[in-house]
Amino acid sequence: MPYRIRHGSGAKPFQIVNLLTGKVVGSSATRQAAQGSIGHRTDAESNNPKAYKRVVNNKLPYYGETDLGKKTIKINKSMSKKHPVHKRPINKHAKKYPEVLDTIVHEVHHVIHPKKLEKNVRKATKRLIKKMSPGQKRKHYNLFK
Ligand SMILES: [Zn+2]
Repeated sequence: MPYRIRHGSGAKPFQIVNLLTGKVVGSSATRQAAQGSIGHRTDAESNNPKAYKRVVNNKLPYYGETDLGKKTIKINKSMSKKHPVHKRPINKHAKKYPEVLDTIVHEVHHVIHPKKLEKNVRKATKRLIKKMSPGQKRKHYNLFK
């Protein structure tokens, strides 16, 4: 989302304006602080999986793919089902195709933590799925149809 700085008055004269809505979303004492705040907001938005387009592409040469620039998460359901990376289901509630859930959670984790190493994304995925309720799992599945 684009922002700009507007010079107002008072103790925090540098107002941050959301250009899409025209609303003031915050204010800072200095221009530098306002610029920093815009940077944080922009980062937080690009790390938000809700802003991503989710696509099922069964011709993808990978299990899943995340494009941080184009903001898309692609999942190859067919590959996850036919060639599971894990020997046994890593979660007991996802009776059907637990591998697909693994791929989804993995890719979403890349979006939230773009700098995290592959190895650590795998570890986190396993941990996150273990803690997920059946409803949360369903939610993840349902976003990819
Ligand atoms: Zn990965």
